[in-house]
Amino acid sequence: MHKLNCIGVLTSGGDAPGMNAALRAVTRTAIFNNLQVKAIYRGYRGLITGEIVPFQTESVSNIIQRGGTILKTARCPEFQTPEGRRQAYDNLVREGINALIVIGGNGTFTGAHIFSQEYEIPIVGIPGTIDNDLYGTDSTIGYDTALNTITDAVDKIRDTASSLERLFLVEVMGRDAGYLALYGAIASGAESAIIPEIVTEEDQLEGLIQNGFRKTKNSSIVLVSESEKTGGAFGIAARLKEKGFTPHVTKLGHIQRGGSPSAIDRILASRIGVAAVDALLDEQRNIMVGIVKDEIVHVPFNRAIKDKKPVEKYMFDVLRLLSI
Ligand code: ATP
Repeated sequence: MHKLNCIGVLTSGGDAPGMNAALRAVTRTAIFNNLQVKAIYRGYRGLITGEIVPFQTESVSNIIQRGGTILKTARCPEFQTPEGRRQAYDNLVREGINALIVIGGNGTFTGAHIFSQEYEIPIVGIPGTIDNDLYGTDSTIGYDTALNTITDAVDKIRDTASSLERLFLVEVMGRDAGYLALYGAIASGAESAIIPEIVTEEDQLEGLIQNGFRKTKNSSIVLVSESEKTGGAFGIAARLKEKGFTPHVTKLGHIQRGGSPSAIDRILASRIGVAAVDALLDEQRNIMVGIVKDEIVHVPFNRAIKDKKPVEKYMFDVLRLLSI
């Protein structure tokens, strides 16, 4: 392996608040350790097209508070082909980059894992996604901010729900993970959450109908995870209509990804960013850096990608108990 002297860094997949804070931490920690930093724009696409720019400490000034990613992000199908990855590797060699830090989610780490098996390049991953669906870290960067955005939005919806005395279904992101729906429901005092992990959708609907909507409460709010299985909030609403209910549906959509990162996400991103460069200096490779029980951990990409991080079932009981 070449001596480590130049780190390339990119953001990839869905953007998440706190990615900029992570980029800032990586850049400054690398420079502090006398390493060069080259920023790669638009994720793996920029690696293939050669959109690569040297970064100094000032390049990351005034970005810790900004949402999104100043490096831009992209979905890049070409990186899923051997030809695309060959081109990416040629660009790394041309630029003198001898290690990579990738900030993203599951897909980003899958790409990194394949790339690192084909080519001699150490890669370290930083978990940046609002979904919190990665094994090996208690929280992903962006999750806390998204949770706060959801809580604010549901607070506003509740004003209308209680004035109109209606049932509202609020769809939140999360792909196949129910973290945003479950914890968002607890934080906003919602009546329930329909999430993919706990019980079947059928059971959850029946439970809701029996215990939730027909009580003395004059309004109900239920958070629903987006899910192909259930059809999300619109799918649930259609089935509730068949049972005589007339729910309103709100899909929160991309507002969940936006906004200035919370203090918790900025701190998480700063800590993991520093640890990611330390890991490369320690000759670690092909791992994601996470935090579990307040300790930095290194998780091999294949575990971060494949292993499941189940939601805590007792938190569902907490939600149920508090919505009586
Ligand atoms: P989020 O969880 O926020 O959606 P993500 O990192 O999972 O983020 P994806 O769009 O799934 O986002 O993946 C990002 C990029 O990773 C893809 O555009 C592609 O370039 C690369 N990638 C994903 N899967 C593979 C794969 N099997 N082989 C090579 N590259 C991949």
